[in-house]
Amino acid sequence: MIPQPKSDDVDDDITVSLGEIRQEWCARCLKSTLDTATIYAFAGTGAYVIGAYAVCEECGWSPYADKRAG
Ligand SMILES: [Zn+2]
Repeated sequence: MIPQPKSDDVDDDITVSLGEIRQEWCARCLKSTLDTATIYAFAGTGAYVIGAYAVCEECGWSPYADKRAG
């Protein structure tokens, strides 16, 4: 007997998109060198904010990579 492929009814067409990159304040360089963008997911039911991106172009620091308190 030949196994039949499972037919998944998933037709969630999700597109992930990076929002406009803004320059924000880097707490380490003390200047506006932090490239920040919002990450969106566009699904059939609407658009959702699923995360954010921020990396300083000068020192490479990211507020999302630093998990240490204080
Ligand atoms: Zn910096």
